[in-house]
Amino acid sequence: MDEVQQEFLEIVAQVKTHLEFRRALGVSFVETTAAGSRQAAVQPAAPTMEKIPLSQSIGLAAVREELGDCIRCKLHKGRKNIVFGEGDPNAALVFVGEGPGQEEDLQGRPFVGAAGQLLTDIIVKGMQLKREDVYICNIVKCRPPGNRNPDPDEVEACEPFLIKQLRAINPQIIIGLGNVAVKTLLKTKEGITSLRGNWKTYQGIPLIPTFHPAYLLRTPSDKKLVWDDIKKVIAEMKKLRDENEP
Ligand code: SF4
Repeated sequence: MDEVQQEFLEIVAQVKTHLEFRRALGVSFVETTAAGSRQAAVQPAAPTMEKIPLSQSIGLAAVREELGDCIRCKLHKGRKNIVFGEGDPNAALVFVGEGPGQEEDLQGRPFVGAAGQLLTDIIVKGMQLKREDVYICNIVKCRPPGNRNPDPDEVEACEPFLIKQLRAINPQIIIGLGNVAVKTLLKTKEGITSLRGNWKTYQGIPLIPTFHPAYLLRTPSDKKLVWDDIKKVIAEMKKLRDENEP
């Protein structure tokens, strides 16, 4: 098999994976170029990019070091591991969730349970990226008991480290996953149902809220809405890439 045939087969395999992912999300149609253009025309423009001053940032390793064996809030009592976050320290795209679950607590890694598998599918099959190309973290770094929502005092204690993490990474886009993450990041009481899919900014960085993968496991019929949100991110990343090309 020559190089061209090999490349063709790889493209076919990628398209097949992508279509399978769309079908899994309940998307049973494929947009034509014209429909895609119409959609782009009616979508609101993403917020202007305004980077966090790099002078205010320290490296990701330094943030982890500063966090240390943290006991700043009561969540430290029940945790097995701090789940700091993982991925590319210079990622263009960061996912921010709520907090570690049981599997994440055991492994010390974010989004590795069933919801994590769905997030990985969104990244790999939907966005055609590798998980290690993005950065994944949470509002709180220790597991709330019984997977309850983190209390306000716990969020308050942990949030400075999220802010420093995001400053260190300085991504182009943030995806906020679920009610707790989005309310914390945007300092709003508005719920995820009305916020999702609408561009916001966090510290000058474009942020799009969407449903948490754990919610999608309970409500698979809303997967299509998340795919709509992800398509906006894909389009914005392409626009940013095109703008940066010489
Ligand atoms: Fe520290 Fe955050 Fe864990 Fe609380 S949740 S103990 S602030 S690392």
